[in-house]
Amino acid sequence: MKRYQLHIGGTSLDPTAGQWFETQNPYTGQTWAEIPKGDASDVERAVQAAHLALTEGPWAEMTATQRGLLLHRLGDLIARDARKLAETEVRDNGKLFAEMLGQVNYLPQWYYYYGGLADKIQGNVLPLDKKGYLAFTRNEPVGVVAAITPWNSPLMLATWKIAPALAAGCTVVIKPSEFTSASTLEFAKLFDEAGFPPGVFNVVTGFGKDVGASLVEHPLVRKISFTGSDTTGRLINEQAARHLKHTAMELGGKSPNIVFDDADLEQAVFGAISGIFAATGQTCIAGSRLLVQDSIYDEVVAKLLDIARTARMGDPMDADTQVGPVTTPPQYKKVLEYLDIARQDGATLLLGGRAADKPECGDGWFVEPTIFGDVTNNMRIAQEEIFGPVLSIIRFKDEAEAVAIANDVRFGLAAAVWTSDIGRAVRMSEKLQAGTVWVNTYRAVSFMAPFGGYKDSGLGRENGIDAIREFLQVKTVWINSGAVAGNPFVMR
Ligand code: NAD
Repeated sequence: MKRYQLHIGGTSLDPTAGQWFETQNPYTGQTWAEIPKGDASDVERAVQAAHLALTEGPWAEMTATQRGLLLHRLGDLIARDARKLAETEVRDNGKLFAEMLGQVNYLPQWYYYYGGLADKIQGNVLPLDKKGYLAFTRNEPVGVVAAITPWNSPLMLATWKIAPALAAGCTVVIKPSEFTSASTLEFAKLFDEAGFPPGVFNVVTGFGKDVGASLVEHPLVRKISFTGSDTTGRLINEQAARHLKHTAMELGGKSPNIVFDDADLEQAVFGAISGIFAATGQTCIAGSRLLVQDSIYDEVVAKLLDIARTARMGDPMDADTQVGPVTTPPQYKKVLEYLDIARQDGATLLLGGRAADKPECGDGWFVEPTIFGDVTNNMRIAQEEIFGPVLSIIRFKDEAEAVAIANDVRFGLAAAVWTSDIGRAVRMSEKLQAGTVWVNTYRAVSFMAPFGGYKDSGLGRENGIDAIREFLQVKTVWINSGAVAGNPFVMR
């Protein structure tokens, strides 16, 4: 069994308390590695290392162009090691190897993009209403960044934070999810190889209440960039507010996937399947509510069931597998509980609805791809994030009703519209309360496209040019170009 170490100040080292915890493979249920159980003293060591790197030494002295070059090198190393990193992710979170490899292969683009952006961050000379001054702005790094990440796509969601943070000149301490820490620890070694100075990137693994909370509290941490559940996000935001820290919150979703009767139904059904069953429904952008227009309801349901019932479950490393296990035991329990809740609330079970016990599922935590019909938007399965392979189908009559149902949740992360009417696509994209609206597609994301939530789905944006501003603070510099005159006791 592999035993990992923390990564602090460019060195791999044991946790101060000398404790480790086990991490399991969701497909086999077997423990495969030991992860350092960090605590407040490890956070202290990591934040001090990050602070030192930020304020003194080579990172602080580097030009933005040199920082960009390091990010480029890191991108190249990720491309070289993509297979190994993706395998580690699969061992820890049970997602399909094909998907994880695709994801890791895409990650270098974030480092190239933000690496290129690093030396294009510029302040402005200010047009002033006062004579005798030159004033300009400087964009400076916000400080030490604490990145706190979930278990569903560890390296991708970490990258959305790390690449712009480093491009901005910040240093980072990351706490990955306790369920999927291994890939982030392996990833850390690439920073040393790329030539990042010690302390620029640090990893402290452990539990939220120990490592996560200590990071949020630490006075030298100035920004908390969090991805996870809205419950934890709210808690962290409250804690951060007490210390007036900057935060960015990427939280949950209950995204509507809306099919109109003028849509290409084959495409729409394809989008509905990938919207909910990809990654076993464990994505913040899962299209967990399928809104279908009355006139095509039966046809869409029939087409959907035809495909969904052929889903092959099994070993996520196997190229033929389409649906993998649920990542964690608590999540598995939670998904099964929602299946009971749906029945009690009166939803009609159309497919699945139970734990999977097929031989190819072994001892893994599998739930059958599940579809409920006749769901009304007030049911709990239509309002609460399940984060599993559970689809709720809801009927609607017309555009106005589709908008009303779609927006009638506290989340607003993403939404999709399937239609062949361009006018309707425009109207719907204006009215839907979501940070991302897709038309005739689902799940498209890019390093170039801003991503984030409306309402309870979060605060701030990741990806795209503006995401770098999350890690900058603006300083205004005034230079007096004339003699000081007048009464010194009167402010001018
Ligand atoms: P979670 O909130 O349970 O945990 C996320 C991270 O927070 C983990 O590293 C955890 O250890 C840490 N944490 C827990 N308590 C903490 C505390 N008190 N202080 C500091 N840190 C603490 O979320 P999860 O179950 O790992 O992930 C699933 C959730 O993440 C879902 O709600 C999903 O929608 C959301 N998510 C959002 C996005 C997005 O971009 N919007 C992407 C992926 C996942």
